[in-house]
Amino acid sequence: MKKWKCDICMQIIESDEMPKICPVCKADSSHFSLAEESEGKVISKDEKYVIIGGSAAGLEAAKVIVNGNDKADVTIINKEEEYPYNRPGLSNYVAGKIDKNLLYMENEEFFKKNNIDFRLGISATGVDTNEKKVSLSNGESISYDKLLFANGSSPFVPFEADIDNETVFSLRTMKDSDGILEKINKSSTAIVIGGGILGIEALSALVKQGLKTTVIEYTPNIMGIQLDDTSSEMFRNVLENEGVTVLTGKQVTSVKEGIVSMKDEEDLSADLIIICAGVKSNIDIIKGSGIDTNRGIIIDDMCKTNVEDVFACGDIAEYKGRVTALWSNAVMTGKVAGSNMIGKSERIEKIIPSTVFNGFGVEIFSIADTKGGDDKEEMVVSKDTIYKKIVLKDGIIVGGILYNDVQKSKSLLIAVEDGLGKDIAKDILE
Ligand SMILES: Cc1cc2nc3c(=O)[nH]c(=O)nc-3n(C[C@H](O)[C@H](O)[C@H](O)COP(=O)(O)OP(=O)(O)OC[C@H]3O[C@@H](n4cnc5c(N)ncnc54)[C@H](O)[C@@H]3O)c2cc1C
Repeated sequence: MKKWKCDICMQIIESDEMPKICPVCKADSSHFSLAEESEGKVISKDEKYVIIGGSAAGLEAAKVIVNGNDKADVTIINKEEEYPYNRPGLSNYVAGKIDKNLLYMENEEFFKKNNIDFRLGISATGVDTNEKKVSLSNGESISYDKLLFANGSSPFVPFEADIDNETVFSLRTMKDSDGILEKINKSSTAIVIGGGILGIEALSALVKQGLKTTVIEYTPNIMGIQLDDTSSEMFRNVLENEGVTVLTGKQVTSVKEGIVSMKDEEDLSADLIIICAGVKSNIDIIKGSGIDTNRGIIIDDMCKTNVEDVFACGDIAEYKGRVTALWSNAVMTGKVAGSNMIGKSERIEKIIPSTVFNGFGVEIFSIADTKGGDDKEEMVVSKDTIYKKIVLKDGIIVGGILYNDVQKSKSLLIAVEDGLGKDIAKDILE
């Protein structure tokens, strides 16, 4: 079986043939290349590694640890009652486009074979970094030689809300998705709060399932990070033609008893309400441990925290003042943390944020700087339903949007990564 790496989300997929589409981020086959086999010496050191969180970041770190230390004693503590699954795939699952079983990345057998103690449905509740112990929700405490925080993030709700999982949901976990799917069958109307990429994916799923849906966004633009004013307006028209009510520049003030209240607007209600207003790192359990936090756990370029033998990676970690809540970042930092925990020396690579979206008959690839500005140059091609824009700074490509013609997405990715110039920009826009 060959190993293929997706250059958008960094996921490794095992398959004899090159995958046609990435199951995690939906990038097409042009974004796959054969993954380099990790090499290097295998150490034999009796060490106990505890990983809090068993998703993208925790799983990647565990794999690196067991592959690099044949005496590693690895325990993963995972709050969810699920083996690791493809979280970005939840939107497709809610849309009814994918079978649940295809979302799982590893199963019980994998953990048994690799001698990893994967504890399902147990939370870490606190950490004593002097005693090197983690307390657990089942009353036990577990000791470690090296500790990794890979406990991710949770939905951020910037207003008062009763998330009752009856009418009002957030979309983060498999459990949320199962609840939403069950509710969809009994619903005809829905509201999505948040018109960013997560909200739009949820919206796409609900419309696909036949619900009459409204999306409410605080800022003036839908998908305001991935799109500029022009492409966002084009996309808004597509949504409205699909029967979606699009409310932008509206501030939700509360969601109570199934009623969405907004500033200076009439209340709205629907059978199903999904809140997708952003995420926040799960730093609560770190309180009082002496580990430095800001928005996330502060790490250096080796994923080390300020406390000896304590590491962090993925959505929980803050590097150079930023929490990067992306799957690609979770996989990359998981690898770096795992390597450094077994005594290797790996450093964080720069992640260039990019998005692939496919829904409502629209394909979008967007990367890095999509807005431009006074000190930047923009090259734009716009024809009918197609819009392509490249942003350059000092003659170097620093970002762009491919809307409804994503054939050159790989070229644009390479151009931004390698800092290529105008000739390539012209070629991409052709
Ligand atoms: C619907 C959806 C679509 C997305 N689409 C994309 C996309 O297209 N592209 C992209 O790059 N990113 C996407 N993301 C974001 C991406 O999924 C995250 O960046 C990624 O999952 C982060 O991985 P992580 O391992 O750091 O944390 P998480 O995936 O958040 O996993 C952390 C795990 O730790 C567990 N945990 C939390 N607290 C504790 C505790 N105290 N004790 C034990 N366990 C604990 C949690 O239950 C969870 O299982 C999407 C997210 C969602 C929800």
